[in-house]
Amino acid sequence: MENKNYKQYKCTSLFFILQIFYVILCNILNKFMKLLLHSCCAPCSAAIIEYLLQINIKPVIFYFNPNIFPKEEYEKRKNELTKYAAMLNLEVIDGDYNHDLWLSEVKNFENEPERGIRCMKCFSIRLSATAKFAHENGFDTITSTLGSSRWKNLKQISEAGKAAVEPFTGLTFWDKNWRKDGLSERRNFLIHTNNFYNQVYCGCEFSVK
Ligand code: SF4
Repeated sequence: MENKNYKQYKCTSLFFILQIFYVILCNILNKFMKLLLHSCCAPCSAAIIEYLLQINIKPVIFYFNPNIFPKEEYEKRKNELTKYAAMLNLEVIDGDYNHDLWLSEVKNFENEPERGIRCMKCFSIRLSATAKFAHENGFDTITSTLGSSRWKNLKQISEAGKAAVEPFTGLTFWDKNWRKDGLSERRNFLIHTNNFYNQVYCGCEFSVK
């Protein structure tokens, strides 16, 4: 008769083998995911991109941030991200920069505090454009680096992302908390090791301290 320790050993081994199969299966499925990653800047994106590549997902990066002011700052953030993506052989799609249109869409909310209604609108504008582009170009999933910063309200990003994909059948918003699984620590590490340009304000003129 099998003793208790031997049974426990068999269970643990079986569990371990199933876990390995699960990881392999996820990696195979991940390879087929067509992910459009909305990205706001290199500091917020590096750890997320690294994580995605580790789990066999090769994202296409969508840089759509008409909120950023002034244009020089927009270019600076874009160039830093583009350089990093090029190192990893990843494609970056440069969305339109129409700051005047963005301003008209957040009109009357200029004096809102950060994490208020203006920010909710700002997330909606950016994630809706991401979802539209994804739908028109054959992606099945979108997500965003916006939530990696602890200054942002995760609930707002989650709501904006879910609403953005709603009109498009077959398109999913990947609502992952990108601060967990050691990603916040990794974010800080990669900012320093890559010596990224790291902005001191969120992006729009109303967030300049
Ligand atoms: S503070 Fe940041 S999230 Fe809020 S509106 Fe300005 S750029 Fe957008």
